[in-house]
Amino acid sequence: MKLVLDEEEIWIIECIKEAHIDCGFHVRDVIKKAKARYGLSRSTVYEIISYLEFHGLVKTNKSGNRELDQSISYFIVCPVCGKEVPENEYIVENGRAICEDCYLEEHQRIKFADPMAVRSKKLFRKSHGLEGTEGLTDIQKDLCEFIQTEGAVTPEKISTLFGLTPQETKNQLAILRHCELVKWRQIGDEICIVLFDS
Ligand SMILES: [Zn+2]
Repeated sequence: MKLVLDEEEIWIIECIKEAHIDCGFHVRDVIKKAKARYGLSRSTVYEIISYLEFHGLVKTNKSGNRELDQSISYFIVCPVCGKEVPENEYIVENGRAICEDCYLEEHQRIKFADPMAVRSKKLFRKSHGLEGTEGLTDIQKDLCEFIQTEGAVTPEKISTLFGLTPQETKNQLAILRHCELVKWRQIGDEICIVLFDS
């Protein structure tokens, strides 16, 4: 049977890992951590540990202490993409266990209207005598041209026509935004990209 753990159960596993010493772990230490970090009550911690015991993830060792059985495999459901991920392939960040793909995607994300990025990009372009679409990659130039021709275009349309993933589109548009070549504009109930000067 495939064991799929929920968020609170993952938190307990993380707390157990930290509370682990050579001879096992003490529930009291797990309760302290789980309470301080995630606000879980004592009874919830006990309940989850007994659930983990039932599935063999927590067992009693020779010295009579509880320990985590690393040989038992389990899965989590990534809250971002909904994929089931085995225990050695997820990343816990701020109490949230997500799959590696979603983790990377989130960390590659470039903030769209980032004042510092705009400033540094502007200074860089000015110091290199770059104007308009000079110094941009071919795809960025194509995007600018396309946006100019269309007037206003949704990021979804750009993704489809240029064969980019939604994240790649966002990243490219973020760079153009930092160069102050494009900006967002709400048209009806759609959020579109338009040229910065329009
Ligand atoms: Zn994911």
